[in-house]
Amino acid sequence: MERYRRLNIKLTPQRLAILKHLEGNKAHPSADEIYKSVKKKYPTMSFATIYNTLEALKEKGNIRELKIDPAKKRYDPDMSPHHHIICTKCSSIFDVYKDFDIRLPEETAGGFKVSGKNIEFFGTCRKCK
Ligand SMILES: [Zn+2]
Ligand SMILES: [Zn+2]
Repeated sequence: MERYRRLNIKLTPQRLAILKHLEGNKAHPSADEIYKSVKKKYPTMSFATIYNTLEALKEKGNIRELKIDPAKKRYDPDMSPHHHIICTKCSSIFDVYKDFDIRLPEETAGGFKVSGKNIEFFGTCRKCK
């Protein structure tokens, strides 16, 4: 509870429910999945509340929005540096905790000072294989 206060967003019971659902969530859920799950406990919850809360959390740097799934945006509460792998059959997303030593050669970086990278892998998960 205390640590949520530091998020700088207004904490309504509904927003708290969304935060609790995301905490430690490794499934990289979509807004729709969060909506379906939180709605069970908060039947008055609207999809707009979910979406607006996710946007606010993203803006404050509390969650990451993933674009690895072409079908829908997915959300990740884990802000530690990591990469992702997605199953092209069931769209499960798993974390990849490894620092890959990839450097952009200067001539391809377009004058950028590179500050980070985000690698997306895809394949078939253990269940779908
Ligand atoms: Zn799969
Ligand atoms: Zn992740």
